[in-house]
Amino acid sequence: MRRVIVVGAGVIGLTSAVRLLEAGYRVDVLARELPLETTSAVAAAIWSPYSAPQQHVVRWARRSYDVLADLAADEASGVVLREGTEVFRGEAPDLWWRQALPPGAGPDRETSLPSGYDSGWTMRLPVVEMPQHLRWLARRVEDLGGTLTRMNLSSLPEPEGVLVVNAGGLGAKHLGADPSVHPVRGQVVVVEQLGLDRWTVESEGPTYVIPRSRDVVVGGTAEPGEWSRTPDPAVAADVLRRATRLVPELARAKVLRHRVGLRPGRPEVRLERQGDVIHCYGHGGCGVTVAWGCAEDVVGLADG
Ligand SMILES: Cc1cc2nc3c(=O)[nH]c(=O)nc-3n(C[C@H](O)[C@H](O)[C@H](O)COP(=O)(O)OP(=O)(O)OC[C@H]3O[C@@H](n4cnc5c(N)ncnc54)[C@H](O)[C@@H]3O)c2cc1C
Repeated sequence: MRRVIVVGAGVIGLTSAVRLLEAGYRVDVLARELPLETTSAVAAAIWSPYSAPQQHVVRWARRSYDVLADLAADEASGVVLREGTEVFRGEAPDLWWRQALPPGAGPDRETSLPSGYDSGWTMRLPVVEMPQHLRWLARRVEDLGGTLTRMNLSSLPEPEGVLVVNAGGLGAKHLGADPSVHPVRGQVVVVEQLGLDRWTVESEGPTYVIPRSRDVVVGGTAEPGEWSRTPDPAVAADVLRRATRLVPELARAKVLRHRVGLRPGRPEVRLERQGDVIHCYGHGGCGVTVAWGCAEDVVGLADG
């Protein structure tokens, strides 16, 4: 049995570990931050190819949609399929990732819109409750015989005859000696659940309201080059003001907590094999959206 060390316990490292274990590899995951401490734990997280168009993103997102839709049948996975609307001022543009949607998921033109908006696409998309989903993934790794260990690495491990998957997210800047990796700061406000069951997104901003089972994630920001993980009260107030334009009920919602995550920005995702290292990082704002598609490519590269 071939051994693999996966560096990183965010959504990319854990989904890769699950697929590698299922393919028969022996897998040990090493990570400085354990799953609930990662950027992945902060993600809103709605399936949405939110990034510049890239060659493989539509294929990875399409595959991940199917996997997530199947997982939605298992309540413990933290995945639900929810309907909602992306709204626009002016004419709704065509979605460059339209082909990533399965038949029946939309997009359909929406006519019931928040005041001030002119058009919208309604879709049925996976919403992933990240803390629960990451716990589910970590359990799946362990159930399949893998291990998860906290370790702060100064470089990628190089044991003889062992494959290494670099799923270090922003940490790949150093682990992969890759200066093109940079933080894209995202701040969200988590508010009480008021009975919302539809998501609403406006890509300008970006502004989004993503209902989960017990709370609602309200965002957001995308600030390239910003490293601070401290929530900024002025930013939180602006986020809530923008989001209340989309969903006026939020005006009476109690704030539960503030969270900040640093997305692993890169001009494009790096997914390639170099000798015994498979790099899989730089997923920016769409790691949850493409994780399962990427994980299956990681297995293909490991087998190859
Ligand atoms: C506010 C916000 C909202 C978001 N919303 C969405 C959304 O709706 N949909 C979506 O698809 N995506 C969303 N994202 C983006 C998504 O969170 C990221 O694309 C994804 O989490 C990246 O996952 P990752 O596993 O690559 O990185 P991470 O989750 O950051 O994990 C990296 C792992 O590598 C480890 N590591 C790094 N350096 C070292 C080292 N030196 N030694 C050991 N371990 C190391 C870390 O400790 C960690 O375990 C959002 C992000 C934010 C911040």
